[in-house]
Amino acid sequence: MDVVCLDLEGVLVPEIWIQFAEKTGIDELKATTRDIPVYDDLMKQRLSLLDTHGLKLDDIQQVIGEMEPVVGAKYFLDELRQEYQVIILSDTFYEFAKPLMRQLDWPTLFCHRLDVSIDNRVTNYRLRMKDHKRESVESLKQLNFKVYAAGDSYNDTTMLKEAHAGFLFRAPENVVTEFPQFSVCSEFDELRTLIDTAAGETKA
Ligand SMILES: [Mg+2]
Repeated sequence: MDVVCLDLEGVLVPEIWIQFAEKTGIDELKATTRDIPVYDDLMKQRLSLLDTHGLKLDDIQQVIGEMEPVVGAKYFLDELRQEYQVIILSDTFYEFAKPLMRQLDWPTLFCHRLDVSIDNRVTNYRLRMKDHKRESVESLKQLNFKVYAAGDSYNDTTMLKEAHAGFLFRAPENVVTEFPQFSVCSEFDELRTLIDTAAGETKA
């Protein structure tokens, strides 16, 4: 049995912070690591904005609950899980992902955690481990699994490199150009074909 590791945001679900900013009308929440390069500074700003706008975890989950997975993602995942063990490796947080994971029938998700106060405010965040996507793939390989990985952005490229085969899915042009070693695709059936082909080749 082979393992497929998938990124979450930009592959199976929309970018959570961007959608959240649109749904709440809080434009400052659209900032990304392109605007604030230090991730910790960006997260601190996001959490302080949530507080300023009086948004507690329940409110946030309610807004995220109105989001939907990308069209075709649920079917792709359901079919994929019949033939492969699938693990979603994401830099989001369990508390944010939950309403979307429900709609995907609770696939296995490795991501990070939030600190939530007794009055339901998001006070801090905890990364499970630095570069956990790559570390997860490496550990799976040590367990003698063949691993295939797909993602859309910079934070996926180390796991794509570590995997037996890595694919860029709906990636922006700059990522595609910078990482020409990865096959590129934009539709779920293409991604499935790339995975099946890689799995066939590693068996041979
Ligand atoms: Mg992504």
